[in-house]
Amino acid sequence: MAEDFRGFLKEMEETQEGGFVRVSRAVDTAYEVAAIVTKLEQARQVPLLYFENVKGHTMPVVTNCFADRGRVARGLGVAKRDLGQRVAEAYRRPIPPVEVARGAVQEVVREGADVNLCLLPAMKYHDNDVAPYITAGIVFARDPDSGGFNLSYNRLMLKGRDRLGIFMTTGKHLNSIFCRMQERRQPLEVAIAIGNHPACAIGALSIGPYDEDELGIAGALKGSPVEMVRCKTVDLAVPAGSEIVLEGEIDPFAREEEGPFGEFTGYATRAGQNPVVKIKAITHRQDPIYQDVCGGAHREHLTMATIPMEANYFRVVKGAVPEVEAVRVAAPFTLLISMRKKYEGQARSALVAAFSADIYLKHAIVVDHDIDINDMQRVLWAVATRVQAARDIFIIPRAQGPSTDPSSDQGVVDKMGIDATAKPALERFAPVNAVPPEVMERIRLEDYVGDFVLNLKKQK
Ligand code: MN
Repeated sequence: MAEDFRGFLKEMEETQEGGFVRVSRAVDTAYEVAAIVTKLEQARQVPLLYFENVKGHTMPVVTNCFADRGRVARGLGVAKRDLGQRVAEAYRRPIPPVEVARGAVQEVVREGADVNLCLLPAMKYHDNDVAPYITAGIVFARDPDSGGFNLSYNRLMLKGRDRLGIFMTTGKHLNSIFCRMQERRQPLEVAIAIGNHPACAIGALSIGPYDEDELGIAGALKGSPVEMVRCKTVDLAVPAGSEIVLEGEIDPFAREEEGPFGEFTGYATRAGQNPVVKIKAITHRQDPIYQDVCGGAHREHLTMATIPMEANYFRVVKGAVPEVEAVRVAAPFTLLISMRKKYEGQARSALVAAFSADIYLKHAIVVDHDIDINDMQRVLWAVATRVQAARDIFIIPRAQGPSTDPSSDQGVVDKMGIDATAKPALERFAPVNAVPPEVMERIRLEDYVGDFVLNLKKQK
């Protein structure tokens, strides 16, 4: 397995897992990369894109790095089907990081007048985006009470040579840390690492209790401790193998306009008064590679976020109800659960557990094990034929939810659970139609409609 981001890129170029394309033609940071990503997605393709030539910049830009599950799995040295299991194991058995004396990420150190964020080829993605944004930065911060590290992805708006607007979701860990520093009337030091190994990315996106150690999860995903190097101007450490690190602090009381920005929901969040990161130092490799995640409802954001989300839902929901067989995040704020229901009421227990697992969850549907939750048509069939709304739907009104949900009341949402299992049990429900299995076995399509089958195969 590769040690760092550029090792990962090299491996992906060699294996071509999910596709790897070098683009030599010059691209503009304003909308052009987003247009290329969008058009490829329309053709159902998410190759890793390596833009060698970016107008007005010396750094190359890579995007779509983690847009494909197979690519993330290969980066972590597991088969695609074992990815969820691997993340679940990492949650259970974290490997703490180690500190090293030197890191490639500090080959170049820029401080004071040398700090200039405009060096970074930050992107504009959508017509509503107010400014270029850094989207692939992992924010490292220290919990003032426990002293532990917290890792998170936050959107960062380019505001000037040494200033970034930051959006911290209410109720999430970084926001909690910032609020506690605010109570102490002290600035929050942060370090933002750009260009990270998939283990760090998935670790940073892990969802769980406040004190859960994202770095330890990253280490477990990698199979060895993440090597950390001390920052130059803040009391933090960052992965030694990152490409670029921004060191800075967030004033507890300063607020400035941040946004609009096109979010993963497919909608632009409106401008709001949000905190500002003052950058004190930029460190990077001799020849840094800038990592980007295309903003908005694009494949990479959705893929990256759902991998650790599903592992978390699975451990919490299965922990409460062992009969749960699979979970799937099917849309923003939406979870599907399948289970082998044994007792009456168990489907509701699974739903309640799911809502406790992550405040982001808004809608959850439970189906029986005969429904493939990767097939939305089947899920809707179960909802259509096994649900009576007055009996099977419950609503938790006015609960804390995602403020990025455009229909929310500033982060207050109604949560809906749908029990789409057959009642009282699948075995005692209306019989499901099936052609007798021995006939299915015996009939070979080739013997009856051979030419048609042959044509179908050709089209594939
Ligand atoms: Mn955390």
